[in-house]
Amino acid sequence: MAVKKTKEEPLKPNEIYNPEEYCPVCGKHISERCEHIESFEKELQEEVNKQVEEKTEDPVMTAFDELENRPSDEQIEQWKKTFGNIYLTMLDTDVAVVYRKLKRGEYKALVAKGLQNIDLENEIFRVAVIWPKKMTVIDYDAGVVSTVATMILKVSGFISEQEAVMLTREL
Ligand SMILES: [Zn+2]
Repeated sequence: MAVKKTKEEPLKPNEIYNPEEYCPVCGKHISERCEHIESFEKELQEEVNKQVEEKTEDPVMTAFDELENRPSDEQIEQWKKTFGNIYLTMLDTDVAVVYRKLKRGEYKALVAKGLQNIDLENEIFRVAVIWPKKMTVIDYDAGVVSTVATMILKVSGFISEQEAVMLTREL
């Protein structure tokens, strides 16, 4: 049987057979849909369903959706209108931070103030974090502020993915 299943693109059952093929068990043409073909298709369909399920289940979004105080979809749409692209980082199942890109001018202004290291990270966090807004940097663990500041620099295009990874540590 011409099964060319790949992880990336699950096949639909009607795509798996060559029209010239016969059942390897009983030898009937596939169009006769013998019990072997039926059961093989059923198995394959289950596998496909499983793959689709795994693909759509995003642990970050699932954790975000389970937050008690999660911002509403309307609120998120409003932020998108105001800020353009916005981002979510989940640092734990219950620590979520929503932020926007830092504009080049904003970043330059912070650097021009002579801010460095933790002070710079705190200011990046303060400027770009959209939610939760009532919390300030002192409400977070240092690791959270540092990690989110690094992610903000990354999404803003000021540092590469590799640099972001290199700068980020679990504390
Ligand atoms: Zn058969």
